[in-house]
Amino acid sequence: MLDNTHEDWTARAANLSIRGQAFIDGKFVDAASGKTFDSINPANGEVLAQVAEGDAEDINRAVAAGRKAFEDGRWSRMAPGDRKAILLKLADLIRSNLEEMALLDSLDMGKLVTDAVTIDAPGSAHFFQWYAEAIDKIYDEVAPTGPGDLALVSRVPLGVVGAVTPWNFPLDMATWKGAAALAAGNSVVLKPAEQSPLSALRLAELAAEAGVPDGVFNVVPGFGVTAGKALGLHMDVDCLAFTGSTAIGKMFMQYSGQSNLKQVWPETGGKSPNLIFADCEDLDAAADMAAFGIFFNQGEVCSANSRLYVERSIKDVFVEKMIARAQAMQPGDPLDPASKMGAIVDEKQTQGIMRFVEEGKKTANLVAGGERVTIDGKGCFIAPTIFDDVSHDNPLARDEIFGPVLSVIPFDSENEAVTMANDSIYGLAASVWTDNLSRACRVSDKLMVGTVSVNTVDALSAQTPFGGMKQSGFGRDLSLHSLEKYTALKTTWIKYKA
Ligand code: NAD
Ligand code: MN
Repeated sequence: MLDNTHEDWTARAANLSIRGQAFIDGKFVDAASGKTFDSINPANGEVLAQVAEGDAEDINRAVAAGRKAFEDGRWSRMAPGDRKAILLKLADLIRSNLEEMALLDSLDMGKLVTDAVTIDAPGSAHFFQWYAEAIDKIYDEVAPTGPGDLALVSRVPLGVVGAVTPWNFPLDMATWKGAAALAAGNSVVLKPAEQSPLSALRLAELAAEAGVPDGVFNVVPGFGVTAGKALGLHMDVDCLAFTGSTAIGKMFMQYSGQSNLKQVWPETGGKSPNLIFADCEDLDAAADMAAFGIFFNQGEVCSANSRLYVERSIKDVFVEKMIARAQAMQPGDPLDPASKMGAIVDEKQTQGIMRFVEEGKKTANLVAGGERVTIDGKGCFIAPTIFDDVSHDNPLARDEIFGPVLSVIPFDSENEAVTMANDSIYGLAASVWTDNLSRACRVSDKLMVGTVSVNTVDALSAQTPFGGMKQSGFGRDLSLHSLEKYTALKTTWIKYKA
């Protein structure tokens, strides 16, 4: 029996068998071109698997399989209770393969395996279960047209949903899109991030095992400029659900305009503010969560609380608390349950983060971290980093760094804090710490973001929508509202003799 020790996780990793082929029409297949690319473990630079390098031709095949399945109704017209049973079975299969799913994400993109096995993988099972349970509990409408007319307003699946996802939560991003789109009765073609395609491929295999019919859930790994773009421009894709950077989200809007006017739902970047007021009674809890808010998942979180606005009277005390927490969260081998932070996804991202850090050393006050480190002489790791006295217009305070880098900015009044928090092209999330209820409500009200967490950070659940405002995009994942993205409103008007 293996347990939760470093040795046990290392042994599990050594025994893992990894499939890198594309999953199209119910089968693992090579890319049409025969090409592959390496999937790399950023913790040690080792090649984990050869992954099929899908391009436009593979996307065509997957979309054709999805269309055929949609048209013959094998999933789209299946009785709701039967669809529910299959997705519930998938949730169970994820649970019975929890360690494998967690390992795939940890090895592929560097996150802590303990987080993956307690948060990401159970989350995926939970979200599939949640959407499965919703399938036979949502009713449509009858419009109030009066006698002689019966107008039914129903939500119908769109057809083929394309999904393009990032690398920071590979399994959960595939799930947030996939579970809702499948629950609504669509076929799905998922293009996972090239940095971390492995868990999505295994998810597709588990979906088939659960009974999702061939062609209904396809996963085509490949690069953004080839496979991702082909999906965005495809004339037979009805909807494109995207999570990733703002720049690429904008491209998908253009792809739609250049092709078939497919619906596009961008969920993009963030630079989320965390506001600490002096009337917050438990500053230790606030500091614990502020550290989690920026250092969890190596800071590679779209809603990471990367801007810390602290009321000036408590700023120095609070920064001391943050420094202590940063020092206690040094990175380590992602497979070691004792590690507090994992590896950055790849070399490119590591170098990008370090460029911000090096510039920051010239323009702000580095008080923790600030360097790249190795574990056993290898890998992409960055020490948890804090800059104090960052000016509000410094790139450290404006740009999405997507790494473990926190910028501290003092404020003197509630209005100033709100103004600075809102002065961003992004509007994904924000946190507010205060024990003054009126202030909590007043400030939450004024923050132009998709989610405000009061006296916590990153509040998130299956029951609540997640997504942004402004250039954080307008798609919403999670909750029943997410189903609106994957369905169209259809009116069926029947005349009868009253
Ligand atoms: P990215 O935009 O570079 O890539 C995302 C996906 O788009 C990948 O699958 C990639 O292959 C594809 N892609 C890249 N270029 C493309 C192109 N020209 N045409 C079509 N597809 C293309 O983002 P990333 O670096 O993988 O992820 C980090 C970003 O994701 C951050 O900005 C982060 O904030 C964001 N993110 C947002 C959310 C959210 O819900 N709002 C959640 C997680 C991550
Ligand atoms: Mn990888």
